[in-house]
Amino acid sequence: VEFPLGLEGPLPRQADVVVVGSGYTGMAAAREAAGRGREVVVLEAESLGWGASTRNAGMVHPGFKVSVAKLVRMPGGRSLYRSSVDAYQYVRDVIDSEAIECGFVDGGQLHLAPAASHARALRETGRLYREALGVDAKFFSPADLGNEVSCSGFQGGLLVATGGGLQPAQYWAGLARAALSRGVRAFDHVRAQGWEPDGAGVRVATTRGDIRARDVIIATNGYSDAFDPWVRRRVIPISSFVIATVPLPPELSRSLVQNSRMVITANNFLSYWRTTGDGRLLFGGRTSFAPTSLATARNRLYSLMVCAYPQLQGVEIDRSWGGNVGFTLDRMPHVGRRGPVAYAVGCCGSGIALGSHLGAGVGAWVAGEDPPVLAEQRFPAVPGYAGRPWFLPMAGWYYQVRDHLDARGSRS
Ligand SMILES: Cc1cc2nc3c(=O)[nH]c(=O)nc-3n(C[C@H](O)[C@H](O)[C@H](O)COP(=O)(O)OP(=O)(O)OC[C@H]3O[C@@H](n4cnc5c(N)ncnc54)[C@H](O)[C@@H]3O)c2cc1C
Repeated sequence: VEFPLGLEGPLPRQADVVVVGSGYTGMAAAREAAGRGREVVVLEAESLGWGASTRNAGMVHPGFKVSVAKLVRMPGGRSLYRSSVDAYQYVRDVIDSEAIECGFVDGGQLHLAPAASHARALRETGRLYREALGVDAKFFSPADLGNEVSCSGFQGGLLVATGGGLQPAQYWAGLARAALSRGVRAFDHVRAQGWEPDGAGVRVATTRGDIRARDVIIATNGYSDAFDPWVRRRVIPISSFVIATVPLPPELSRSLVQNSRMVITANNFLSYWRTTGDGRLLFGGRTSFAPTSLATARNRLYSLMVCAYPQLQGVEIDRSWGGNVGFTLDRMPHVGRRGPVAYAVGCCGSGIALGSHLGAGVGAWVAGEDPPVLAEQRFPAVPGYAGRPWFLPMAGWYYQVRDHLDARGSRS
């Protein structure tokens, strides 16, 4: 993938909008604000697109991390869900209107139940999808799953019709180019270090000097740092990893996942996978809540992959990668404005659609449009958290025990 490069040299002293972070969220925000005539500068601490936006699994779908049961009970839950469908559609529209070649396939999401309790929950989720949200969702018994996937050990699955896959770095590069073509100036290797109110606007301190702006948009998600301690207290970075096999023989690749589904397991230490246009299996997951190395994560994912697909024992892994997702206390993404500083963060692992759309929404908002639907949500801080997620190993053990008990319950 050919990535657009950041600008070198001194920053302009002034802009209408400064966007901090150059992933989907930042670039979509920049594209929308610039499209409305604003002078926009993007600041990226590393190289452009360095964060999770070029290092994910490319699964795009409506919905949030919070369960459907909880979502439909939330005030305005249905309109929140509709906004996530809009987010999915936004990605498709950007791909079409900007002619981004990123191998988009529209195959739906298949949620698999590793334990009987997950199967019961998925069956109920399917009912809620259909009855409360009007979404096409179908539950499969273990016997019927064979028409969808050839993996073993699952107690059922729920197929949700809307969802697709794309090559994430190609999509990011297309979105970034679209922003740059609207006059956005993106600087890389510049860290925004802090901000202070300055007249009607804001002064942003960076490693390349200060820049004044009328508005700032924080789009730093799982890499949020001391630039804005208020945002950082609300977004927990959790690492996620992916492995990709070498291209497999066409027949084997086709048998693993049929109908271009995006597959996600329903346990806490979830795994997710899909096949790619060139016949690879991309297999990802949350291997640990505590910091871990790429090599350890790779081995763990390999054994999970072989456990689901014993026929892949011995298959070579071509690439592996990882990055940070940004989690929030209520498992919902958040967008809002505090004076001259706006933010769009916390996609909880579903940032292709949600990050792009929230970014676009906040970019349009600072340029004078109405706020996005999600702006009405309160954004809770994580108690006892100021930037070092000391509680993650404990949370990891807790979820591991719960997954283990669910699995044991299935056997008894
Ligand atoms: C392994 C993995 C698999 C995933 N799979 C999927 C998937 O299949 N589907 C899906 O929807 N989502 C997936 N995600 C999540 C998705 O990638 C993220 O939600 C999304 O990329 C977030 O985009 P973003 O623009 O908000 O943040 P990012 O792309 O993470 O960008 C944030 C940027 O901010 C920069 N930054 C931080 N602080 C500063 C500062 N002070 N100054 C300047 N720059 C700063 C960082 O360097 C970084 O480049 C996955 C994530 C990972 C890691």
